[in-house]
Amino acid sequence: MYRNYKRIFYIGSFFILSLILGFSNLFSLPKEAIPKATNKITVEKIKTSLSINLPKQSNKPTKSLGLVEKSNDQAFFKEIKIKYGQGLMDALLDSGAYRVDAFNAVNSLKDHFDARKIQVGQKINLYYSSDGSIDRLEMQKDFDNLIIVQGKQKNYSSVNISLPSQVITRHVFGQIDDSLFLAAQRNGLPQIIIANLISIFSYDVDFQREIRKGDQFEIVYERKLSKDGRSVQEGNILFAKLTLSGKEISLFRHTPTESGIVGYFHEDGQSSKRALMKTPIEGARLSSYYGNRKHPVLGYNRMHKGIDFSAPTGTPIMAAGDGVVERASWYGSFGNYVRIRHNGTYKTIYAHMSKYGPGIKKGVRVQQGQIIGYVGATGRVTGRHLHYEVYMNGTQVNPLTLKIPSGIKLNGEEFQRFRAVIENKNQIIMQIKSNILLTRALN
Ligand SMILES: [Zn+2]
Repeated sequence: MYRNYKRIFYIGSFFILSLILGFSNLFSLPKEAIPKATNKITVEKIKTSLSINLPKQSNKPTKSLGLVEKSNDQAFFKEIKIKYGQGLMDALLDSGAYRVDAFNAVNSLKDHFDARKIQVGQKINLYYSSDGSIDRLEMQKDFDNLIIVQGKQKNYSSVNISLPSQVITRHVFGQIDDSLFLAAQRNGLPQIIIANLISIFSYDVDFQREIRKGDQFEIVYERKLSKDGRSVQEGNILFAKLTLSGKEISLFRHTPTESGIVGYFHEDGQSSKRALMKTPIEGARLSSYYGNRKHPVLGYNRMHKGIDFSAPTGTPIMAAGDGVVERASWYGSFGNYVRIRHNGTYKTIYAHMSKYGPGIKKGVRVQQGQIIGYVGATGRVTGRHLHYEVYMNGTQVNPLTLKIPSGIKLNGEEFQRFRAVIENKNQIIMQIKSNILLTRALN
């Protein structure tokens, strides 16, 4: 009982104290809104302390990060999370910060972070002094950067610290029993890498029709690890191979010197990118072919001059190639409709969409793979699907049998550089494989 009274007394006096301090703060706003940086931090110090204690995912920090010298007066700690519709300033005020502190702390972030771009769910660690002022604020901006705001007598300054990480190379291979997605998942490939894998092969492979039981995949990709090993960020695919019905398709990541644009290339130097993708949608089922058929709504035989993909409403639809949007508006029985002109020869059209992709309107330039709309059931339809047509020199052609012209091909010196890249990747794979064999032998 006595302990409860004591607690109430303490809490009560803290509130009164903070009220008084709060008001006094309001009346003594500093003339200089943006304080000059006062902290001196040596890189050496940052590095050494980083390797000892790094980021705490727990909600109770055992120690402060220790990245920047901290004052001895840190009485309270709070971990806050940005809520929907909340700005950084609001979040700080909600957590009990004085307005002047919150204002100055947010202001001092400017050099390293645009506070208006703060995301819902962003975590922030707040350390308060016993007088209730913000002593220190820590925010991990992204995988590689931690921002620390340190306060001293109402002057705040911020530093951005690059978090050390290491890149490891992973090699994963497996057999496909059902779909590439499931096989890759079973073998421990993260979703983002699977999506990238499908995307880089989408010019060569029709994933709905060309995958057979017994096909194989192999991939080498990078993974970034924070120094303490607690957080992970998946990186680039360096190499990937699909063996489909006994036929191998290999792709290597390479950046041609001239263009500087990274891409994936076949062993012979041929870019994996085509003028048009084989299918402008992922994870859809081909539900209607090109040719004569009984029209599902009108009921009589009619030429179907495109192909239909059945997919859930809202599934993203991609531009099949680079080009300019010629039309993005309602078009009679086609419903919401987009037409893209790719070059002098090819146009593609996309119909029945539920809505258009961000920024898609007439005259806009789009890139291959960019989202131009979403699957829907607008216009004259029996159910949600994408109706897709390819025009060649003004008439519709069958997208499935179309011989699509290829993209760039590496030659001369660039091809020699690319061969070196292949050699290097092969060595990496050999090394990883021998390590696996070694560990197996040891076990
Ligand atoms: Zn159709």
